[in-house]
Amino acid sequence: MSLAQESSSDSGTQKVAPREETKVEKKDEKAVASESKAPRSLAATLAALKAAHRKQGAPSYDKRIEHLDALKRALVTNKEEIAKAISSDFGGRSRIETLVADIFVTVGGIDYAKERLHEWMEIEPREVAWTFLPGRAEVQNQPVGVVGIIAPWNYPVQLVFAPLVAVLAAGNRAMIKPSELVPETSALIAKIVESTFAADHVTCHLGGVETSEEFSKLPFDHLVFTGSTRVGKAVMRAAAENLVPVTLELGGKSPVIVGRDFSIATAAERIMSGKLFNAGQTCIAPDYALVPRKEVDAFVNECKAAVGRLYPTLVGNADYTSIVNDRQKQRLEGYLTDAKENGAKLVPLNPGKESFEKTRKLEPTIVLDAKESMSVLGEEIFGPILPVIPYDTLDEAIAYVNDHPRPLALYVFENDDDAVEKVLAETTSGGVTVNDTMLHVAQDDLPFGGVGPSGIGHYHGKEGFDTFTKKKPVFYQSRLNATDIVRPPYGKAVDYFLKLMIGK
Ligand code: NAD
Repeated sequence: MSLAQESSSDSGTQKVAPREETKVEKKDEKAVASESKAPRSLAATLAALKAAHRKQGAPSYDKRIEHLDALKRALVTNKEEIAKAISSDFGGRSRIETLVADIFVTVGGIDYAKERLHEWMEIEPREVAWTFLPGRAEVQNQPVGVVGIIAPWNYPVQLVFAPLVAVLAAGNRAMIKPSELVPETSALIAKIVESTFAADHVTCHLGGVETSEEFSKLPFDHLVFTGSTRVGKAVMRAAAENLVPVTLELGGKSPVIVGRDFSIATAAERIMSGKLFNAGQTCIAPDYALVPRKEVDAFVNECKAAVGRLYPTLVGNADYTSIVNDRQKQRLEGYLTDAKENGAKLVPLNPGKESFEKTRKLEPTIVLDAKESMSVLGEEIFGPILPVIPYDTLDEAIAYVNDHPRPLALYVFENDDDAVEKVLAETTSGGVTVNDTMLHVAQDDLPFGGVGPSGIGHYHGKEGFDTFTKKKPVFYQSRLNATDIVRPPYGKAVDYFLKLMIGK
């Protein structure tokens, strides 16, 4: 029975209670575990998951819904624990930001996938040329098998579980490697995975970079990596050894173009909101702003005013997130020192005039007169620092974007539709939000992914399902057909047939 046939028959039947299903899977787990009592190596775990996939085949629609429901329950039940763990790892991460970015976004993705899963799983009938009639063709949606997920630290829960939503919806099994830089959160993720999924269905593996390296060399059926462009290259090299298909969700410098026809005050407030969410430690955070030259002073003043409204104080403010560790804070301070020493002007946005010395929080700062040779313009910032670059014409702003690696996100603030169209048509980026920042990632129906140095492939929504699905083309030959005559020894009939087809 094909997947879609199975799904359509399932859809009319009573759902199996989640607990019962878990028990069924646990039985398989016991069978596998009894083969060896010792903790399995990564390679042995992958072999066990692949064996389970071969034995049990593609899960039905009902089973997939149960998997997604189980994940949603686990996230909702553990949401406060998750917020505490992330905050402890960061030394202060806004609870609301965790609930929004790690829980709400992931749970929203689950609900969206559940609503459309039946449609996504359906067999797609395709056209057949008259010469092949009455044969028929279709595309079947088959799970690829076992997917590896490597995640970063900045949204440590979302970036493990949002890919997992697509992986499970598409009927796969998964092995997860969370980030070593958020150990409490990663331990909690491992606990959640273990208590939610059977051990031959989804597994989580803790460890340092060596574990990640070993993980990236495994012969998965697909590997999703979220992290830096530098490590993404290493992951792609490792995956290439086994020709493992990869989805790379990488970083880079996401520009903002502030247009001529848009309120500077509104643009400043929306840009600073995006920049300071998670203290700028967001892959799609606005990295730098291109601002009409004569508006630069007004823009800087409006950014100051906006920060004053959003965060009247920063150091003791639970809404303002810390930098994840000392090394990252030193990296960011290094960018500021480098910029200052080489002639840039730093404008601190510090409404309470607080000292940041004894904290891992970083003072939001605008950088003016930065040069291309400075790290602040050469490296992804990933923190609360905003270089502002003046421009004279929109063509000049677009050329600046196009002279740099293709970004993960681009933001344009502009009421003139023609100018927006021009920016959209003349730049290439992973995604765009017009007249705000970061909101395209929250649209469940939009694919998410970079382009070139900012990433390869997509997930979220239907594209996520498709990424982890083998689109299997199937042609069914009919008993009577024309192609039987095109076989050697080729006689006059074939010649006549080809003349008919190609023309004389
Ligand atoms: P990172 O690349 O340093 O690490 C990410 C993961 O890769 C970690 O789990 C780590 O253990 C693993 N890793 C490290 N070295 C490895 C190797 N040699 N082989 C295999 N795996 C290895 O990234 P990070 O510092 O955790 O995260 C920040 C970066 O991630 C930023 O560049 C940011 O833009 C990017 N990011 C991208 C997205 C996206 O969706 N595109 C989302 C979040 C973060």
